[in-house]
Amino acid sequence: MKKVLLFLVDSMMPKILDQCITQGKAPAFQFLIEKGQYINDCVTVFPTMTASIDCSLITGVYPDEHKVPGLVWYDPSTKKIINYINGAFPVYSLGLDHCGKNVLFDLNERHMSKDVKTIHEELEERGYTSGSINVIAHRGHKKHETKIPFLLDAATRFRLKEKVSGPTILSMGTLIKPEIFRPINWNWSQSIVSSYGLNDAYAIDVLIEVIKSGQQPDFTLIYLPDNDHKLHRSPSKAVDHLSQVDKEVARFLDSYDSWDEAIEKNVCIFVSDHGQTIIGTSKEHNIYLDKLLASLKIHKFASTPGPDDEIVICNNERMCFIYPLHPEVQPKLIDLLVQEPNIEVIAWKEEEWVNVRRGGSPTKLSFKKEGPFVDIYQTNWSIEGDFSILDLQQQPDGTIYYDDYPDAMARLYGALFAQEIPVVAVSATPSYEFVSECSPQHLGGGSHGSLHKIDSIVPLIMAGSDLQVPKPARLVDLKAFIMEKLLLPDPLPV
Ligand SMILES: [Zn+2]
Repeated sequence: MKKVLLFLVDSMMPKILDQCITQGKAPAFQFLIEKGQYINDCVTVFPTMTASIDCSLITGVYPDEHKVPGLVWYDPSTKKIINYINGAFPVYSLGLDHCGKNVLFDLNERHMSKDVKTIHEELEERGYTSGSINVIAHRGHKKHETKIPFLLDAATRFRLKEKVSGPTILSMGTLIKPEIFRPINWNWSQSIVSSYGLNDAYAIDVLIEVIKSGQQPDFTLIYLPDNDHKLHRSPSKAVDHLSQVDKEVARFLDSYDSWDEAIEKNVCIFVSDHGQTIIGTSKEHNIYLDKLLASLKIHKFASTPGPDDEIVICNNERMCFIYPLHPEVQPKLIDLLVQEPNIEVIAWKEEEWVNVRRGGSPTKLSFKKEGPFVDIYQTNWSIEGDFSILDLQQQPDGTIYYDDYPDAMARLYGALFAQEIPVVAVSATPSYEFVSECSPQHLGGGSHGSLHKIDSIVPLIMAGSDLQVPKPARLVDLKAFIMEKLLLPDPLPV
């Protein structure tokens, strides 16, 4: 049976990948594409932020089922804002010991629903072995100890006594090390400036070591975060950033006698979590929520919401979850949001329905699951109102397809129904970003989070298999494909 390696490359975009290959700067990706299948329009999860996407990748369901709404969201049970920092959690942000615990422990052990199983849990229940390298969502049946480096521990008062669950091979930088034969030699990729090994070079080091140890699991998921951080800062150098990722992929391929041998021994799949949008350079490209919503009492970011507070804002860069804390607040909130023309999607729940409006427009679209309409993913819907709000289009046979907002209905439904409490989800026009108290800002840089295709379309490459990933492809469908088509048909050796 061939091993399966699934690489998650943060913020890899089809257009940049194509340019990188055309310019001869991505020989490894070029090799994999030439030897395999390349899909340039795979759809990811909404919000287009790493944490909830990771959960969808390993559970095969949207957030309405795995219950992790986004990178930043409000937990009414603890009255706290949950913040997973980001994919590689930059160490400077770990000053918030709360966030460190959110990302290392709560995401996997508390927030991700126990009603769904991760690919690691399912494979290991069936006798296969599974591995996870540097992926923040990694729940599994084995327990692993975390080693918080002394400096980090002392600087942040961050302590984690509980063990963290994961598959047999679990690596989270130098915080959780897999039990393999040889220790990985110390190098700069493990230092504090490199986020304690939560970077591409260290992830590839661990992968190579796991393979050489003879204990390579049947399935391994590997997360490569560097491209995202660089793109946020200098999106104009996107091709160079991706070519650096290609160098790390080449280093993995080079660890075999030939690149062909690497894909003879492994099915190698590469996918991304989301794209990025370049934010305009002037302040007009910031959507200042504090100003727009000034007539409402906004909860103070680091505090617990009090009885007078009317809304909680959870900023996910180009999308926001805004929670109305009292029933009479929601209509006022929507009226204010509709006044901003650079908010292109404003969505909220009404019983089992999702309502959607667009900033600057008087019309409304409503949809719910089940009904006479079928979309290209074979999901049934009831739809009423203005189809153009979500750019819903119909093929001659009546099938709904999507353009500007890929898989818009299921993805919006997934984000809104991840929680039971009332919430309004907003998504910004390309080149715009939401600004609220303590939110990161990226004027002239890259950002993501929105429902728009620019943040939502990712490349998918598979080499080393005669099979084809079915189209139209979605990240959420990869788990089922890997399990049912690649791994389970081959019985385990007795
Ligand atoms: Zn990012």
